Amino acid sequence: MSGPVLRFAPSPNGYLHLGHAASALQNQRVAKELGGKMLLRIEDIDVGRTREEFVDVIKQDLEWIGFEWDGEVRRQSEHFADYQRAAEELVGQGLLYPCFATRAEIEAAARETGAARDPDGGWIYPGIWRGKSEAEVKARRESGEPFAMRLDMEKALLAATGLGGNQGLSYFEKGEGRGGARLAVDPALWGDVIVQRKDVPTSYHLSVVVDDALQGVTHVVRGLDLQAATAIHRLLQELLGLPEPQYFHHELIRDAEGRKLSKSDASTSLHSLRQAGWSRRDVLEKIGLAD
Ligand code: GLU
Repeated sequence: MSGPVLRFAPSPNGYLHLGHAASALQNQRVAKELGGKMLLRIEDIDVGRTREEFVDVIKQDLEWIGFEWDGEVRRQSEHFADYQRAAEELVGQGLLYPCFATRAEIEAAARETGAARDPDGGWIYPGIWRGKSEAEVKARRESGEPFAMRLDMEKALLAATGLGGNQGLSYFEKGEGRGGARLAVDPALWGDVIVQRKDVPTSYHLSVVVDDALQGVTHVVRGLDLQAATAIHRLLQELLGLPEPQYFHHELIRDAEGRKLSKSDASTSLHSLRQAGWSRRDVLEKIGLAD
């Protein structure tokens, strides 16, 4: 067994902001404390929004704030075959189904059926394509229309726990300080999530769990905004027989109005601050990580 492995995993659809700096450096702090490896992974499955300039500047900004990574940088766009294989395993278990519905159709059906919202505020999928006949699916496939692959949540929970519902699924949250606790998760709050998008043969959730396992990641340090998604990640890990890392979801850096920082706001972008003459120390002080 190799030792602890951590990863910082930005998406190159914009410049990093102060919140990313805090996340990267907290990862690095934990990696050093544990004597582990620190990896950099570029989560660029969104090929339409990825720009090479962002990838280059992300690396420069990380070097500027003193974040150092070990080994090769993994780029998810170069590993679609790995995610496809994992999805096929889920298909083999009878847990995925194709969904041809458009965003507008989903919203209309969700409003009509009074569907609930998921933890990120999106509509819970109202089940339009769940349980459709093979003939109907075949006809649509033959028309060449793009489709997503969704997880049948009810079946998936039954397959993962043997019990159905959310019984038995949990993860270890390290939290601030020394302790930690096992927390129960409820993936059903997300409904039939997308495992493979219409445009690429994967999704954020699938690529993250596949890569964390392939790269031997033992400790996931990321913002509290991703804590709810851990429910889906634990479910996919169980279904795919992947190891379970520990998690530490840290507080987010917020603006003066208490809002989450946004990649579109130049005033907190590391790239702009660097150009405006900020020093590394200024960044560390601003995010409360100066020693
Ligand atoms: N790529 C994700 C993001 O930039 C982070 C993924 C993760 O840490 O699990 O928000």
